[in-house]
Amino acid sequence: MSKKKNLEYELKSAWEVYSSKKDTKAMDKLADRYVEFLSTCKTERLVMDYVRERVEKAGFVDDLKAPKAFRFNRNKTCFLARKGKRPLSEGFRLIGAHVDSPRLDLKQRPLYEDTDICLAKTHYYGGIRKYQWLTIPLALHGTVVRKSGEEITICIGENPKDPVFTITDLLPHLAHKEAAKTVDDAFEAEKLNLVFGQSPAANGKDEDKAKAPVKLKVLEILNKRYGIDESDFFSAELQAVPAGPARFVGLDESMIGGYGQDDRSSVFCGLEALLEETEPEFAQIVLFWDKEEIGSEGATGAKSYFFEYCMEELAETWEPGARLSKIFMNGSALSADVSAAMDPDYKDVYEPLNAARLGYGPCFNKFTGHRGKVGANDAHPDYIGWLRRILDDADIPWHMSELGKVDVGGGGTVAKFLAVYGMDVIDVGVPVLSMHSPFELASKVDIYACTLAFREFLKR
Ligand code: MN
Ligand code: MN
Repeated sequence: MSKKKNLEYELKSAWEVYSSKKDTKAMDKLADRYVEFLSTCKTERLVMDYVRERVEKAGFVDDLKAPKAFRFNRNKTCFLARKGKRPLSEGFRLIGAHVDSPRLDLKQRPLYEDTDICLAKTHYYGGIRKYQWLTIPLALHGTVVRKSGEEITICIGENPKDPVFTITDLLPHLAHKEAAKTVDDAFEAEKLNLVFGQSPAANGKDEDKAKAPVKLKVLEILNKRYGIDESDFFSAELQAVPAGPARFVGLDESMIGGYGQDDRSSVFCGLEALLEETEPEFAQIVLFWDKEEIGSEGATGAKSYFFEYCMEELAETWEPGARLSKIFMNGSALSADVSAAMDPDYKDVYEPLNAARLGYGPCFNKFTGHRGKVGANDAHPDYIGWLRRILDDADIPWHMSELGKVDVGGGGTVAKFLAVYGMDVIDVGVPVLSMHSPFELASKVDIYACTLAFREFLKR
């Protein structure tokens, strides 16, 4: 009877695996830390600050000759490495995740006044469903660099005493015509304008009345507070993101809701794993990239040579004379990224046998891409076999998944940019509901299981 049962695969609930008091306690502690992390790290720069603080505390130094080393690139991307017992050319364990998340970037000339309201124009970053960003409190984060080179950090809207920003939407009473439009037509990118102010600047005499007194007042406040003027937006990166902290969701507090879980959940699990597994057999490398949401482009994206430069320097001191190609070919990597959990209200876009599910641990995507696996890395079965063994031996719940039904959509990750080096790589991360929305949802137990899975990978 039992023999027969073993022939069939059954999904293993992570909640059942981690039902002990000890696990529950550890899971809750990790979840608290995760909520704090999500609440603090709303931009790629803020993630970098967080990572830097934690790795420095753990004894990592800004020197790739050291056995515990880091290198940051423009405070948007970083490379972390810990030397293993075996030489680099015998292999390494790499976890790569991305720190950027979809958001609304301020344009370079954002401010204007209309109908006695000062507004700021945005250009969305990454894939968003535009209507999700309307009528919610938004915070403004970022950096302004003045001509002098002085860098000013901006953060407005996170402190409960701060004001926030928002994008307006039409009232239902006047939306009859809008309601008949398709979603794509109804929400225009050029209407994603942040409300910035409504009161006019004080006038002197009538004849020096400003043409845009409300905008002028906003500029006066910005100047008083940060010493900037309108042209300083040219050299600024300001991002509007959902304001306020991440929260536990559900009566049982089993889930975590918050902005940026794609892909900061992987960043968090990867960092936690690196800091816990201190005596690895093989070298550990953890990379946090920027710009994944727009195709991994630019000097801080996974397509850049930053990773290669770091490895070159690492090899020079960790194993002089070792051939880089040999090092890369022997590497094993996890492209740590979230996947779409099956949504009970939208089951029709998922294929249930191969859909990621909340509460079953991290999900592995053998491939990503779209319409016939185009643009995908397709992980090799021998690599998956090895991963199955190490996770099952450690009794860590995990499952296989695919992003939605074939031909319904698709997506990509950084996996293929690692695969070009010849290393083994597969996509893995926590399943997420409402991905790319201002309030993404993940299960606490999946964060826990994913961290343990990453630890197992970095250890073996
Ligand atoms: Mn992602
Ligand atoms: Mn994404």
